[in-house]
Formats: sequence, C-alpha cells, structure tokens
Amino acid sequence: MREDLTRNGFLEKTDREPCDFYIINSCTVTQKADKETRNLIRHFHRINPEGKIAIVGCYAELDKDRSFLENIPGVTHLVRNDKKREIAKLLVLNSKFQITNHEQIPNYKLKITNFKNRNRAFIKVQDGCNHRCSYCKVSLVRGHSRSRSTEEIRSEAEHLVTAGFKEIVLTGICLGAWGRDGKMVMLTELIKEISAIPRRFRIRLSSIEPLYVTEDIVTLMKNEEKLCKHLHMPLQSGDDRILKLMNRPYTVKGFRQIIKRIREAIPDAAITTDVLLGFPGEDDRSFRKTLKFIEDIRPSRMHVFPYSKREGTLAAKLEDGLGEKELAGRVKIVTEFGRKLSLEFAKRFIGKNENVIIEDTRHKTTGLLTGYTDRYIRVSGEGPDKIKNELVPVKITNVDRDGNTAFARFNACPDIDNAIII
Ligand code: SF4
Repeated sequence: MREDLTRNGFLEKTDREPCDFYIINSCTVTQKADKETRNLIRHFHRINPEGKIAIVGCYAELDKDRSFLENIPGVTHLVRNDKKREIAKLLVLNSKFQITNHEQIPNYKLKITNFKNRNRAFIKVQDGCNHRCSYCKVSLVRGHSRSRSTEEIRSEAEHLVTAGFKEIVLTGICLGAWGRDGKMVMLTELIKEISAIPRRFRIRLSSIEPLYVTEDIVTLMKNEEKLCKHLHMPLQSGDDRILKLMNRPYTVKGFRQIIKRIREAIPDAAITTDVLLGFPGEDDRSFRKTLKFIEDIRPSRMHVFPYSKREGTLAAKLEDGLGEKELAGRVKIVTEFGRKLSLEFAKRFIGKNENVIIEDTRHKTTGLLTGYTDRYIRVSGEGPDKIKNELVPVKITNVDRDGNTAFARFNACPDIDNAIII
C-alpha cells in the first residue's frame, strides 16, 4: 500500500496530526483485534473530524459487520483485501465499498520493491485457506486457497534481493498449500526457484501447517543452504480430543512424528509453534496433556494465544469454557515455560558460529548491534556500523534474557574485516 501511494504521489511521511487520510489495515482474528480497529477509528475521527478514514483488510471483509463499520462516523472507505494494492486509486474514488471476488487470483501485479526500515522482505505467495478449523475466522474471510505464479514470485524476489534484502520471508494464509490449487506444483519447487537467484541471502518460511511438512521440505531444509533451518508449525493443543473439536487435520502422534523426522534430519533445527488455550472443552486434563506435550517436543519459541470466540465460526456454537482468570493463569504458565525453552535452545549455540542479519538500528539501551540467526535466535553484540544490513558470521559467546526475550551475545566474527560481505 505504501508503494502504491508513494508512486501515485499520495504519501508524504508525517508524524504530525491531523492527517488527510487515515488507513487502518484491520485484522479480525480475535475480538480484541476488532475492538482495536473501532478504537482507532474513534481516535482518528476525534483528532480530525474532517479526515477520511479507510478501513482495509479482514474486518472490512466481514459482511455481517459491514453496515456497522460504514456507520461509524469518519469512515469513508472500506477496502477489501484483494483491492489493497490499488489503494491510491480507491482513495480518489469516493466509493464506499469495493466488492471482493474470492474466485479472483490476487492482484499482485504491482511488485513490492521495498520494506522501509526492515532488512527482511516479506513475499505473500498465496491467499485463502481450504481448511475449516472451527475457531478460525480467517479462512471464512479470505476464501479458498489461491496461489501466485512462480514467475511473479521469483521476479518479486529478484527485485528485493537486488535491492539489498538479505532475507526473503515467504508468507501466506496457508503457505503449505501454495501451488496445489493450479498445476499441483509443490512449495519445494518454489523454494528451489527462489534459491537459484544468484546472490547471498536466505529464505524463511513464515508458518506452515504440519500437514504440509513433507519429506521433500525436510530434505530441502537439510540440503539447501539458503533455506533457514527453522519451521514454524502451529500446534494449538496437545490433546487429540481438543484437536478434533478444533477440526485440526492431525493428531498429537502425527505431530510428534513430524518433529522426530525433522530432528533426525536436522538435529539443531528450530521448531517454533503456536498454542491456543482455553478452547471450549479444554479441561484440566487437556491442559496438562498440552503442557506435557510441549515439554516433550520442546519448541524453541512459542506464541501463546487465549481463545477468543468469533461469531460465524463452528466453535462459537460450543459452550464457553474457562473463566477469564483461569484462562489468564494457563496462558501465563505456558508463556513462562516457552521463555524457558527459548533460553534453553539458544544456549545450545554457545561457542558456535552462526550467520546473522544485522539490523539497521542498534539496541536502544545497550547500543549493541542486533539481529536474528537463521534459527531465529535473537542476538546482540559489538561490531562496526558497516555490517548493518549484512548477513555476517558471528560467534555466540553467551546467552541471557533481555526482558522476555532470550538474547544470545556474540562477538562479531574475529575476522570480520576480511569476511566476505556481498
Ligand atoms: S489452517 Fe486453520 S487456522 Fe489456519 S487459516 Fe486455515 S482454517 Fe484458519
């Protein structure tokens, strides 16, 4: 959206208020996300009653709430997901609602060539999802899975890599399903195409459902140097009964086998996950099973989410489960445990050399350089400014905590002056 606006002469970076246009890129994954959007609308309208407010994204997609959003004072535009890339055009037209067509291949002809203030570039390779997890509103809003073509994605990746990005993150609503809606090509083919771009950079998969973690993906991860040895596979629950109620297409045993297979092939792979707590029916026993399973598989990082009831989903019909306090207690226990596991994982790399993409800005309080290793360990250490935005080898010296995050300290490669920086 920023690129489209800038190219069309719209965007003037401003920190001052009031603005002429406010664009809220909305999310509807939880009730909290909806509320945040509504609060922002009210906030912007209060600051500038004359300002135009465009609501973009999944909240704007919801037919049910459409009349609601349109009627909030200040809202002048509702822009659906597949029209985001034409935001400049839509803002000059004063139409209130842009029709979406889920049959349509996403309009990604306009390449993204820059991600300001970031040294990782995100390429969205597909939209939509064919699964129907019972808690999920996203799949209802985004429609079925549609993939972008290999040529288009490769061309966008080439632009970004040439522009200096050292990491390409492949994203999608259901990334693993890429290619399966058309000629039945597999994600591994896409990764091979991108890794053939002749520059020094790495590729990361944002999140992939266990179902799509095939033998080919594991083998590619093992052998392809550019592909990060990091997989984010959402677990959600460690109890089969709950997984079934969630309509998740795997069992605890299946999940365990995939992890076993990955670790056999790549013993030090980073496996990160999502856990959803407080789903209707999650009793003490289910919670303990989840905790025990996490303890067994030891993910290197976890995102813990409290369940949020979403109207229109199958789970909304199930009886509510936990009270707020009890749910918060479970979230705290799992989050704390997750931090412990992150620390434990990072410590395995003490004394080892890791490749890190150094961020553009130094750590706020320490002034040290920071970045992520390809196994997604946050690191910081001394080093010259010239290695900012570069992919450089560093040696992990020790690991501690910075707030809630495990932070590995590094010595920039002792030979940094002679290191090949491309
Ligand atoms: S896999 Fe499940 S949770 Fe993920 S987008 Fe699809 S339906 Fe939603």
